[in-house]
Amino acid sequence: MIAVENIHKSFNGAEVLKGVSLTVPEGSVTALIGPSGSGKSTLLRCVNLLETPQSGRVRIDGAVVDFEPGRKVDRADVLALRRKTGMVFQNFQLFPHLTALENVMEGLLTVLKWSRQDARRRATELLDKVGMSDKADAWPANLSGGQQQRVAIARALAPSPKVLLCDEPTSALDPQLAGEVVEVLAQLAREGTTMLMATHDLRLASTIASNVLFLDGGNIVESGPSAQVFGSPVDPRTKRFVSSLA
Ligand code: ATP
Ligand code: MG
Repeated sequence: MIAVENIHKSFNGAEVLKGVSLTVPEGSVTALIGPSGSGKSTLLRCVNLLETPQSGRVRIDGAVVDFEPGRKVDRADVLALRRKTGMVFQNFQLFPHLTALENVMEGLLTVLKWSRQDARRRATELLDKVGMSDKADAWPANLSGGQQQRVAIARALAPSPKVLLCDEPTSALDPQLAGEVVEVLAQLAREGTTMLMATHDLRLASTIASNVLFLDGGNIVESGPSAQVFGSPVDPRTKRFVSSLA
């Protein structure tokens, strides 16, 4: 599970997250929605500590890091927490000089120091899982966006993270290619992968996520089961935003 407590994050004095708390229960998917600039990416990057919050606490599956102004955090604690996470980005961010298979193997070899044989076996399994076995030796430049994103998902899953963080995983894709990626994420959701995903994709959010958080102005202004937040939002800001998605 993911538990974020009272996270504050500012850039150059501008407060982007104003005390955000959330919980993603084990084995469930939560969608993070909100206007452009509301802090969705920043929040995801605070969960895996690619950004350092000024204050608050992040906990994933027994790894905890507390932030307080003026207090240095332990680097080993940050790495331990980050290793509980896998991240999928909007624009895939595959290594262009590595094949699909090598992209999935890379973290296992360099970070986890697996043998090439074990890494290859694991990467092959994962490419199979995302329907990309036949493209194992292809270069990213020769794959469609949907195919690249499926390889990126396999890469994120390779070290068996406890949670998968997705930052608008389908928004760079046309609807058909987005559909391939939604299918893969839906399968992961059915298998009980814990996920927090920022998305503007109503189909993705409403088919996969059990819960939705609406972030606006640095705060979560509404949260609840997807059907409720999408079907009968309460806060006027949520109402306006949800109707703009439809
Ligand atoms: P989008 O839907 O467009 O992806 P978002 O909700 O993901 O938006 P963020 O990218 O988290 O929004 O940005 C939130 C705010 O924080 C914006 O005002 C942005 O300019 C600012 N911001 C984000 N990262 C940085 C940074 N590294 N330095 C300075 N400001 C930043
Ligand atoms: Mg963003």
